[in-house]
Amino acid sequence: MNEIARNIAAVKSNLPPHTRLVAVSKFHPVEAIREAYEAGQRIFGESRVQELAAKQAALPDDIEWHFIGHLQTNKVKQIVPFISLIHSIDSPHLLQEVEKEAARCNRTVDCLLQLHIAAEETKYGFTFDECRKYLASGVWHTLSHIRLCGVMGMATLTDDTAAVQREFAALQKFHAEIKRDFFAGDDRFCEISSGMSHDYKLAVGCGSTLVRIGSFIFGERIINP
Ligand SMILES: *Cc1c(COP(=O)(O)O)cnc(C)c1O
Repeated sequence: MNEIARNIAAVKSNLPPHTRLVAVSKFHPVEAIREAYEAGQRIFGESRVQELAAKQAALPDDIEWHFIGHLQTNKVKQIVPFISLIHSIDSPHLLQEVEKEAARCNRTVDCLLQLHIAAEETKYGFTFDECRKYLASGVWHTLSHIRLCGVMGMATLTDDTAAVQREFAALQKFHAEIKRDFFAGDDRFCEISSGMSHDYKLAVGCGSTLVRIGSFIFGERIINP
């Protein structure tokens, strides 16, 4: 077994059956993705449109591509034809744009609402209150080519595990709240995308259904976005 395959197996051994692994392959070459693919991995996450489009074209069609980075509205049309899940919907405007392009492609695109749960200023996402207000507005009911499947969040980058745990727990609680208030009876609103290489075990303890793991599988990236 090669190193990538071993790392994937190690992560998976820590995941409960309801938690899926998104292998975050950003900045890693097609050959590394192919190794993971050969080890059985089918879900890959990318955070840059250009890079994702090039990799998608070069790799097998049964890969499920997830977009996890900040998505600019003018680039939406490049990924909507093939994307399986957009984790990083951080504004009503972006959702409108995905709707428009999805309608054009005659697709329904699965999306997660990204919540700002970290203490850092720089992370994108709705605040809990912005998200409540947006959902209460009802506008999203008119987006017939979007399927809202849950929430995504990134915890503060810190060694303070209690703080990280509180942030993941807050995301889990918020997911339950909006599920009750806006998605009762919608079985597909079930996803919590939380946890990265250094904090995914805490996220799993807080109900994560999608962990996004890059460096633990593929090694350190040269650049960090
Ligand atoms: C890069 C990235 C990850 C993976 O981070 P690692 O620390 O390499 O596991 C997860 N989520 C998002 C949104 C990212 O940009």
